[in-house]
Amino acid sequence: MIEKSQDQIETRLFINGKFQPSSDGKTFTVTNPFTREPVANVFEASDADVDNAVAAAKAAFPAWRDLSPADRGKYLHRIASLIREHEEEFARLEAVSSGKPVSRYVDASVAIDAFSYFAEAGWTVQGTSSWNTSGHLNITSKEPYGVVASIIPWNVPLAFFGIKIAPALAAGNTIVLKPSEKAPLTCLLGAKLLVEAGFPPGVVNVLSGHGPTTGAALSSHMDVRCLSFTGSLLTGRKIQTAAAQSNMKTVHLELGGKAPAIIFPDADLEAAAAQTQFSVHIFSGQTCIANTRIYVHESVAEKYTALFKGMFGAAVLGDPLDKETTLGPQVDKIQYERVKSYISTAEKEGAVTLGGDAKDGYFIKPTVFENMPEKSQIMKEEVFGPVVVINTFRTEDEVIRKANDTEFGLYASVFTKDIDRAVRVSKLLEAGTVAVNCTSPLMPKDMPFGGFKESGTGRESFLHSMESYLETKAVLIKIGS
Ligand code: ADP
Repeated sequence: MIEKSQDQIETRLFINGKFQPSSDGKTFTVTNPFTREPVANVFEASDADVDNAVAAAKAAFPAWRDLSPADRGKYLHRIASLIREHEEEFARLEAVSSGKPVSRYVDASVAIDAFSYFAEAGWTVQGTSSWNTSGHLNITSKEPYGVVASIIPWNVPLAFFGIKIAPALAAGNTIVLKPSEKAPLTCLLGAKLLVEAGFPPGVVNVLSGHGPTTGAALSSHMDVRCLSFTGSLLTGRKIQTAAAQSNMKTVHLELGGKAPAIIFPDADLEAAAAQTQFSVHIFSGQTCIANTRIYVHESVAEKYTALFKGMFGAAVLGDPLDKETTLGPQVDKIQYERVKSYISTAEKEGAVTLGGDAKDGYFIKPTVFENMPEKSQIMKEEVFGPVVVINTFRTEDEVIRKANDTEFGLYASVFTKDIDRAVRVSKLLEAGTVAVNCTSPLMPKDMPFGGFKESGTGRESFLHSMESYLETKAVLIKIGS
């Protein structure tokens, strides 16, 4: 199949229902991380473009808010089916622009599910009532914020296109979405489908651009009342600060992780090895929920580690467009260099026992470090590559202490057949999600997803996301006699 030529790929900003170049004509280049050839020159939104997009969203808000949930839902159903029709095109575009193997492409199905669910869920927005004040019927109503912004990362862009846009719109808000400069193209293709779905102009706007420019302008914008961010801790801090220093917009943050997986001696070691390696294998380790710190009981460490390495080491590195490939390159040169630098620092403190730099394009081989000092950088910071540490432990208390000795708290897992131990340990692990005899990327759609500690604020899921996009108002009604 011949890939799309550059002029067929949408690269413009999507503002007020129309595609347009940036006001100052600035572009940036997206490069195929496998071939290292340019894929497209994408327009970068300037401050003026951000103002225009927010103004369009603000103008579109009252009419969108006043539609019934069923009428808003019709548009969401339409975009869900259009994404389904174009699923393969999305997978191929992501493969050539960010290196994600087509064999691992889940983004479209996540987006389809989100749009389909939230197409119906608008009806659940409900307030409360109270007769507790004499002579009054007092009620609460749930109301949209108005203009919501969302800033998303590059690992599953179209999934975020659905996860962020669908609940915000179902709640009656309008939105400005900023994809990552590393992977903006599938969101722009999604915007093309929004036009086909007939969305009223301004309800959704998509602005490509870098963080310190476009992202910063959105975070400090006075007319953005709520911002949902997924990305790194460092950027989350900047966004929180910008929000506080501008209009105190409500900010929801889904930040990084350093997820521990604990393997007790009675665990099904084969299943534990299969799942824990998949967790760091998928998307070349570029997920915040990857179980990058594995603690295995010393009595089964040898057996588990051999199983783990056998499966992880069997990853198929190659062309992301090839259906046999399971491990693509890192998303770009910056990310590749970053992972390499984590590996070389870690090599000074411990031994790499599998993998390392593939020395071929932006590929990192499935990489295992063993017995690393708990205080080492690789145990504390997010690497975002197919890199894992396997350390051993002796006692339950010891492993809980080690697992929790991190500022992150997004995801944790425990493998054991002892139900009492599973429950005890689940209670004590400091993480927004604890998985028992399973691990990431498992994220059931109705379970709240979000972080303890510095992994973020707020929760997302079918049952929790819409709440994040609603204000609560008290209406006090005095009853005349
Ligand atoms: P990642 O390592 O996943 O790319 P980042 O936090 O750097 O994590 O990026 C996530 C998103 O945040 C991207 O869309 C990026 O452009 C944006 N971003 C980066 N810096 C800023 C900033 N200072 N203000 C707002 N957004 C930013």
